[in-house]
Amino acid sequence: MTKKHALIFFIDGVGMGSADPEVNPFVTADLPVLTALFGDGWYLADGGRRTTEQASLVPTDACLGVEGRPQSATGQAAILTGRNVSAAIGEHYGPKPNQPVRDEIAKGSLFSETTELGEKAALLSPYPQGYFDAINSGKRLYSSVPQAAVNAGIKLFGPDELMAQKAVSPGFTGEVWRTILDYPDAPLYTLHEAGQQIAKIAADYRFSFFEHWPSDRLGHRGPLSEAKAHLEKLDKVYGGLLEGWDAENGLLVISSDHGNIEDKTHRHHTKNRVATILVGKGHAELAESIEDLTGIAQAVRRFLEE
Ligand SMILES: [Zn+2]
Repeated sequence: MTKKHALIFFIDGVGMGSADPEVNPFVTADLPVLTALFGDGWYLADGGRRTTEQASLVPTDACLGVEGRPQSATGQAAILTGRNVSAAIGEHYGPKPNQPVRDEIAKGSLFSETTELGEKAALLSPYPQGYFDAINSGKRLYSSVPQAAVNAGIKLFGPDELMAQKAVSPGFTGEVWRTILDYPDAPLYTLHEAGQQIAKIAADYRFSFFEHWPSDRLGHRGPLSEAKAHLEKLDKVYGGLLEGWDAENGLLVISSDHGNIEDKTHRHHTKNRVATILVGKGHAELAESIEDLTGIAQAVRRFLEE
């Protein structure tokens, strides 16, 4: 029997924005998978909550009642802990966590709650060897997600897991690992296959997290056309992910830490809400309890504990 499991598929810096095609790359992007799921305009700031037979969509507040633009370290920590980390430390902070954010993460997260039960949890996106070298030499700090995983005693995935097809790269296809990171034997996937593979691997863990960060980078720089092409790539990944997802036993949550890519008129994060998408048994009821980023971990807990 397949066990109950939950995956948070995290896309950095993707919010719900305006209907202006000069501002928001979602407006002109061809997104057949999510549009078939939720109907036209699901990505707009005023699109509202939507529930269909297969999935629910919740416009989710990322500002958390704290002044300023939401940042990655506090937003990701809120998603993984279910606590308002920005309010706890008195500000939005990022991109990497400072000591107060690390202290909040150390109090516990979905990762540590899972491993403390003796169950398996994983961060499914791997890091190249250079990342581990930089961490070990003190040149680089963990961002909130790997920090929470490491705190829970979880081994971060690297080239070995990628090669063994137990991890999928943040860019999905493996091309960057072959060409830029110099792993010529890295497995290659189409975007659809990568989505299927992530669904398959997630079924091996009670809780897993996939981290995709290039979406935030394309909000900070690059033209509107590149952002649009990137959203189209993500939609293809969702096609494979939804096709491979075991909705009877698994809860899939797609969400983000703050807006960015949906407003290409500037290079900063936005205060827009982010689209949280829930797929799996009881998604509509779980969706009702989500208002802001802290509700995501609560929904995962409820699903896994039922
Ligand atoms: Zn971020």
